[in-house]
Amino acid sequence: MAIKRSANSDHSHQKAARVPKSQESKMVSPTATNQEKETSDENLRPHRLADYIGQKDLKSVLTIAMEAAKTRGDSLDHLLLYGPPGLGKTTISLILAAEMEVNCKITAAPALERPRDITGLLINLKPGDILFIDEIHRLNRLTEELLYPAMEDYRLDITIGKGKSSRTQSISLPKFTLIGATTKVGSLTSPLRDRFGLIQKLRFYEPSELTLIVLRTAEILNTSITEDGAAEIARRSRGTPRIANRLLRRVRDYMQVQKKPTINEELAAEALEIYQIDEQGLDWTDRLILQTMINQFNGGPVGLEAIAASTGEDAKTIEEVYEPYLLQIGYLNRTPRGRVVAAAAYQHLGQTSEEQLSMF
Ligand code: ADP
Repeated sequence: MAIKRSANSDHSHQKAARVPKSQESKMVSPTATNQEKETSDENLRPHRLADYIGQKDLKSVLTIAMEAAKTRGDSLDHLLLYGPPGLGKTTISLILAAEMEVNCKITAAPALERPRDITGLLINLKPGDILFIDEIHRLNRLTEELLYPAMEDYRLDITIGKGKSSRTQSISLPKFTLIGATTKVGSLTSPLRDRFGLIQKLRFYEPSELTLIVLRTAEILNTSITEDGAAEIARRSRGTPRIANRLLRRVRDYMQVQKKPTINEELAAEALEIYQIDEQGLDWTDRLILQTMINQFNGGPVGLEAIAASTGEDAKTIEEVYEPYLLQIGYLNRTPRGRVVAAAAYQHLGQTSEEQLSMF
């Protein structure tokens, strides 16, 4: 959607105020910064399923699973949540724990290096508790193998002693729920994937859903915002609540510095342009990736490594931060021969594609 701008809006200050590229790039990263992890993000999480905006299909599946478990007086089935970062996987787990009135322990695969890391967590669980493991595709083999009997039979098989005198001892565990979160469901081994009773995908949010999230967050942050202002932030948030909340904070800073009482559409657009985030939520790096593919590789097909080398960006960052959204909005296509820039991206960048040229 195009941004409406009043004819007299003053852009003279924008050039001087542009933020450095390194700082601006973090604005659209869907992963949480350390500050977000420790403080403010936590206050913004909805605590009940009714307050969790969007993801209608996921909510229906979880409502049925919860009601069934409650009726049986049982724990929830193990649940695997997959999808890009910042879409609400951790939030959903905390909500399920609140709704089921159990505890939720949160950890991530890289923190489970030694077998005793996972055994320590499992042994301390109470009946019905939820154990949330983020980035579950990164579990090491030993930890993963300890999880198999724990998930299937609520049993922990631990080896005591070393060498010939070692023996295995089984410890029974309370019935618990494992919630695994991953951005790469294809990287999970099949024995692990098969042990989840429910496998659910989180999708990018619609602008209308993100608008509601921005309005809700603004209320928590005690910030005055119009619906148009929230929609403007939503449109530029790459379908991701974490980014929407982050952009709202930056626009709020701008509002305060400009001594404006309210965030409206124009103010939001003005602030986000200073951060070089355009009407589609693309930032400087997205545009660099697309322009490089067009100018140096004729729009593709081109491999990830070649894009990384030509743009000076890390291949993993391109794959995990930039590409999912460009694919989602149809600006990029993945083919067996590499990535290809789509017609919509040419249009957005004001360029003509080979395909369009051939029509003349
Ligand atoms: P993930 O675990 O998928 O990386 P999180 O659960 O940490 O994402 O969510 C990131 C932030 O986005 C949270 O602080 C939360 O406030 C917000 N959020 C995510 N999903 C929703 C939602 N459906 N409704 C409202 N806020 C949400």
